[in-house]
Amino acid sequence: MRCRDCQAFIHPPRPVCRSCLSENVAPEVVAGTGVVDTFTVNHQKWHPAAEVPYVIARVALDGVPGVYLTTNIVGCPVDEVDIGDRVRVRFEQQDDVYLPLFEKVV
Ligand SMILES: [Zn+2]
Repeated sequence: MRCRDCQAFIHPPRPVCRSCLSENVAPEVVAGTGVVDTFTVNHQKWHPAAEVPYVIARVALDGVPGVYLTTNIVGCPVDEVDIGDRVRVRFEQQDDVYLPLFEKVV
């Protein structure tokens, strides 16, 4: 979401701008690319269907200052992920939800 009054981005999305308290907010299209800001590798099988290990990362989105997305890095071995890696979004459908996962840009 983005505030139409002060232009601040709002993530996670909410109906009121956290910067100026305006309710004049609306969805905003962003690039879908970014940089791995930090990450960890999960080895714990928290759910019987979970495939481990997997990467949990915080991605800084391009062109969206101050917005970070907590997500998974997919499509490569976990030991090939590093801070500063360029990534792009890859939506994965699970039932009626599309999860924004990220893969490395090579
Ligand atoms: Zn605002």
